[in-house]
Amino acid sequence: MELERLGVFGGTFNPIHIGHLIVAEDVRERFSLDMILFVPAFIPPHKSVGVAPADKRLDMVRLSIKDNPLFSVSDIELKRKEKSYTVDTLAELREKVSSSLFFLIGSEAFLQIHTWRKPNRLFELSNFIVMERPERIVGVTEFENYLKELETKLPSFVLKSMDFLNETYIFEVEANGKESFIYLTPVVNIGVSATMIRKRVKSGRSIKYLVTKEVERYIEENGLYKGD
Ligand code: ATP
Repeated sequence: MELERLGVFGGTFNPIHIGHLIVAEDVRERFSLDMILFVPAFIPPHKSVGVAPADKRLDMVRLSIKDNPLFSVSDIELKRKEKSYTVDTLAELREKVSSSLFFLIGSEAFLQIHTWRKPNRLFELSNFIVMERPERIVGVTEFENYLKELETKLPSFVLKSMDFLNETYIFEVEANGKESFIYLTPVVNIGVSATMIRKRVKSGRSIKYLVTKEVERYIEENGLYKGD
């Protein structure tokens, strides 16, 4: 079956936690996505201080999503075995599936997108669903200003229109002549981060209910996040 609307959720997932799972499900439903594809990033070994090995982060994603038939995981970035660039991942997916792509990203991360590799191409390849994390709210004014700034920073990026529907700001943009949408949307408030999980493990505190019980066991059995 060909999926019409595919959500792509990239991240380090170091480790995946309930915040990721809950917002992914929230966005899947809100945007009527047919599937959410989790894409853990490969982190080169020399940069991986404090980052669990890629295969272990992938295992933890697999364990976390196994009961949700509308969640799936891809090892596409791990297979490349080099620093992961979202633009390469989206281009590879674009070749493989004919679905419309929707890249899920936290609002604070989106505000750095001009520093990513080939930002224009990113918008050509995919729509963006920008999640307002309650503890790191950006706000629509700052967001719109950032998009206007992108017009000056990126060649051939144009902000065409803005709309508001179902709590979501919808920005129509054009990059290299191709139209796509950037959605700024609130998500369920889950104040959990991977940093918090790693800190708690390191200091011997409980992570019960902050990650799935399979991931809790996996972290313990593999001795992850105990050192630096
Ligand atoms: P870290 O604390 O190590 O920075 P993280 O918890 O933010 O990690 P990432 O793997 O970097 O996890 O996140 C992948 C994506 O998920 C990012 O776009 C991030 O903004 C988003 N995200 C992570 N946690 C939440 C949350 N609790 N609510 C909403 N979005 C989240």
